[in-house]
Formats: sequence, C-alpha cells, structure tokens
Amino acid sequence: METLYCQGCGAEIQSTDPGEPGYTPKASLQNENVLCKRCFRLKHYNEIQDVSVSDDDFLRMVSSIRNAEGLVVHIIDIFDVNGSLLQGLPRIVGNNPIILVGNKIDLLPKSTNERKLIQWLRTSAKEAGIKVEDVFLISSMKGYGLEELATEIEKYRKKKDVYIVGTTNVGKSTFINKLIKQTTGYSNVITTSYFPGTTLGFIEIPLDEQSSLIDTPGIVNKQQIAHYISEKDLKVITPKKEIKPRVYQLNSEQTLYFGGLARLDFIKGEKTSFVCYFSNELPIHRTKLENADELYVNHIGELLSPPSETPVKKSLELKKNSFKLNGEKTDIVFPGLGWVSVEGNEITITAHSPEKVAVSIRKSLL
Ligand code: GDP
Repeated sequence: METLYCQGCGAEIQSTDPGEPGYTPKASLQNENVLCKRCFRLKHYNEIQDVSVSDDDFLRMVSSIRNAEGLVVHIIDIFDVNGSLLQGLPRIVGNNPIILVGNKIDLLPKSTNERKLIQWLRTSAKEAGIKVEDVFLISSMKGYGLEELATEIEKYRKKKDVYIVGTTNVGKSTFINKLIKQTTGYSNVITTSYFPGTTLGFIEIPLDEQSSLIDTPGIVNKQQIAHYISEKDLKVITPKKEIKPRVYQLNSEQTLYFGGLARLDFIKGEKTSFVCYFSNELPIHRTKLENADELYVNHIGELLSPPSETPVKKSLELKKNSFKLNGEKTDIVFPGLGWVSVEGNEITITAHSPEKVAVSIRKSLL
C-alpha cells in the first residue's frame, strides 16, 4: 500500500495505534486530503489531542537534515527568544547555511527599533554558537515581512531545498500556511494551534521541479513554560496583540506578581520605574514585599492567576534568583512570559519563576 502522510502535521498515516502520531481510522483513508485524527479534530472542533513522541524522536527526525543539502530557515519567537533559539542547531543541521527569522514582531511596541533588534538577534545567535547568514523580522500572522523574506529565501537557497526549523509554538505552521497561500492560493494546509507540539512529521511543499520547502517537526524545548501550564492558561499568557508596556514606579521592598507564574521583588535601591512587557491579559499585582508570601499562599489560582489550577503543580512552584543592576538599562526576562525593563544604579532585585524556566537578564532590547 502507498504510504500516506497527514495533510495537517505531516505524520505518516497509520491505522493501528490511536495513541501514536498519524492515527486515522481505516474508514477515513479513502478521503482525498487525508488528515490524521488529531489534525481532523483540531481543524473541525478546535480541540487538541495529545500524542506521545519523545524528545529523542524529535531530534532524530530533524537530524536527517544534517545529511541533506539546503537552506535552513530557523524561526524563533521574538517574544520568547531564550525559549526558542535552538542552541543545538549547528549539531542538527551540519554545514548547511542558516537564516534566522524572528516571528511575531507584531507583538512588540510600534516604537521598536528594528535595526537594533536585528543586531541583538545576531549577537544572541553568535553567543549561542549559531552562525547565521542573515536575520529577518516577520509577523506570519499579519503577513508583515513575508514577501521580502520569500525573496531572500529564493536568493539564499540557490535552487536547493529549504528546511523550516524551530521549537514548537513559534508560528512555524502559520508561516508556512501563509507562504503556501501566497504561492498557491490554498489556505489552511497545515494546522495551527495554541498548543505546543502540534507539528509532528516532515511535510514537503514543492518549490519547483527539483526542490521543496520542508516543514520539520517542532522541537520540544522543556524550558518553554507552555509545557507546564493548561491550554486555557496558555491563551492568557500568549500575547495576541501589540503589547502595551505597563509601568510601575516602585519603592524598595515592593513586589510585582505576574499572575502567579512569576514574581519580582525590588529589594534595594531608590524609587525606580519597572516597565513590564507581558500579554495585556496577564494580570499584574503590586504588593508590599512583606505581604508577598502570604498573598501567594492565600490567593494563588484566584487573584494570582494563571495558573488557574490549584494546588499548583510542582513544576510551577516559584524558585528565586537575585540580580544586582548597575546603570545600564536591563531586561529581566521570564522566558515565555515576558520581561521587565529596569534602569538605575545599585539596584538589587529578586526574580521568582518556575524552576524549569529560569530567569535571565540581558541588555535592554527596546
Ligand atoms: P508552530 O507550533 O510553530 O507550528 O506554531 P503555530 O503556527 O501553531 O503558532 C503558535 C501560536 O502562535 C498560535 O497561537 C498562532 O496564532 C501564534 N502566532 C503565529 N504566528 C504569529 C505572529 O506572527 N504573531 C502573533 N501575534 N502570533 C502568532
């Protein structure tokens, strides 16, 4: 029998194991554009189904790029650079040239200096050991920057295949959907969702007679907060619109809670502005440092939500990290949630975040 692939996620179609990728009941195999049950439900009922594929499987599948020849387009989420930049990319793709694409640029304030951002991405990639040929900023959702990117891909690929690579949830499917629509006029060829891990197989879209655009499975990065919270909460923390920075003038010994998923204590320093870049829907609460622990115990899952489920899972319990800032404008980054920009002298802060999504600091991005 001819091997069939799901038109949604690209997984190989099988009718034996409902728990594995690509499962489709035998009766549905006759359909022209066959979808696995998971993509079918996602498409028609907007419902996510979990399948178990280990990280090793993901890596093994993606590693076949190393032995192929083509242009690698690494898509990252500009809102979660730490969580989406693939440290292991050179190992995965070998000597193939890489271009870096920062997606979801629509989320950043309009005043964002794109040149500075591109330069910062270049440096971040270099520090992660990734040599990139070029850097682009796009919004797959709004279509911003796509035409230019498509032209540049054409130039860089030198008639070879194009591999689209990224962690889950960076907007890879949305990007490819748009690209296909631009070139062929079809819409919704690949499913998109809020839930990480949606894209499971390789999917090939012909570019010309000799070469294809290849969508690779989304790589699971366990540092992404998305893997530890419910689908409902993920909708709250995932920004959908341009982020409106929220500014708090804090005195020392004051605390900010970001839902109940992160917390920032201003321990020492003069009155300072804390500019918060998070999903507009994520509630921020200010309180006195001395009341902060009690507030968490009494109000987690209610006033301090998400997480909306209590008791809080062990993986979401908050762990702390202290930083001293001196002069330079600095971002305190809560991966996958957002960041707080602070400028001031002799400032001590303590940042709390779930253990797996450790807080980091960087020179201010905006
Ligand atoms: P994939 O797992 O990388 O294939 O990601 P998806 O294409 O499924 O997208 C993940 C989530 O990000 C979905 O909720 C999309 O609507 C959203 N998304 C994708 N591209 C953009 C973008 O350019 N801007 C914004 N704001 N959201 C996006």
